[in-house]
Amino acid sequence: MTQLVDHLAEMTGYRDRDVLDVTLVGALRDMVRPQCVAIFRAVGEGDQQRWLTRAHQRAEDPAPSGDPLWAELESLPLLDDHPLRADCFRQSEMRSCTVEGTLTTTCFPLTTDREIVGVLELQTGRVLTLEEQQLVGGILRVYRNFQGLLDYSERDTLTGLLNRKTFDDAFLRSTSALNQRQAEEQEPASGSERRHRPTSQPWLGVIDIDHFKSVNDTYGHLIGDEVLLLLSRLMRGCFRLHDQLYRFGGEEFVVLLRASSEADVQAAFERLRATVQSYAFPQVGHITISSGFTEVRAGDTPSGAFERADKAVYYAKQNGRNRVVSYQSLVAQGVFEEDRRESDVELF
Ligand code: GH3
Ligand code: MG
Ligand code: MG
Repeated sequence: MTQLVDHLAEMTGYRDRDVLDVTLVGALRDMVRPQCVAIFRAVGEGDQQRWLTRAHQRAEDPAPSGDPLWAELESLPLLDDHPLRADCFRQSEMRSCTVEGTLTTTCFPLTTDREIVGVLELQTGRVLTLEEQQLVGGILRVYRNFQGLLDYSERDTLTGLLNRKTFDDAFLRSTSALNQRQAEEQEPASGSERRHRPTSQPWLGVIDIDHFKSVNDTYGHLIGDEVLLLLSRLMRGCFRLHDQLYRFGGEEFVVLLRASSEADVQAAFERLRATVQSYAFPQVGHITISSGFTEVRAGDTPSGAFERADKAVYYAKQNGRNRVVSYQSLVAQGVFEEDRRESDVELF
């Protein structure tokens, strides 16, 4: 009993989803003593949904491991590659299977208030007792309630995208690696160290719907809200798994993404622009969006990078709308003078 309370206190002690999944796995390992325990999330859309391993720990592992968040979607297994897990997920019910009388796999659905999001899988040398099943069910209810609280504070209620409150922290996390790299570059480094440095860097984009006021004026706010919800879905489909999508309020959206070149970022926003333009929104018909983006630099502040991307959006609005504009390309063309205020901040 004390052990259970300790685990629940630890699970709910951090406001961090990664830690929450790791502590859930640790709790079940101690309480049920399985040979293996894992949390899998279903990611992607339609028949391309795949399993992302959030945390996985065998009895002999000192700590859980998982897929990196930057894993390519295509590299992950499809739902039906794991039929028991897929059945549990689709029916949202516990599923259990024993192979040759030795290893029992039991899957429990992981749900939020809105939907089923994944599966918890336990492998044991015996069939779980009813008491053990109830224990796992109870721990999962606490997990679900806590996830609900995290969602409530971090996500926009209309679209489910991240809200502005969480942006600064995520932005500073994305620049900390850049700051470290810049500091290292000022020290002599061996060739092999340089070769291992990541080539991708963070970028920030701002998206604003064109003439959205007239959508509200013509069709009313409720239909306007539906457009915002549908646009957020189109965004999810156009960006990668690990790109962070925000609704900054109103009809303004922000994307924090990693890419290795300006052309890749331009292509991602261009894909969204074309998708939105060709999508038939119920009642409203067709709308367009304008986007601006900038690279994120060492020493950048969230507001500094946002302002640069927003300047590029402004330029897009002034030059016909329904376009994607890179801040750096405008500087190169001499439209703006390079704004280096934030990036000149001394690091040490
Ligand atoms: P532009 O092409 O220059 O961006 O024109 P616009 O009409 O979209 O201008 P702007 O971006 O300044 O307009 C914002 C409008 O978005 C004002 C308001 O009617 C609408 N809006 C802001 N927040 C919400 C919201 O939460 N729901 C709905 N339905 N509409 C919103
Ligand atoms: Mg706006
Ligand atoms: Mg607008």
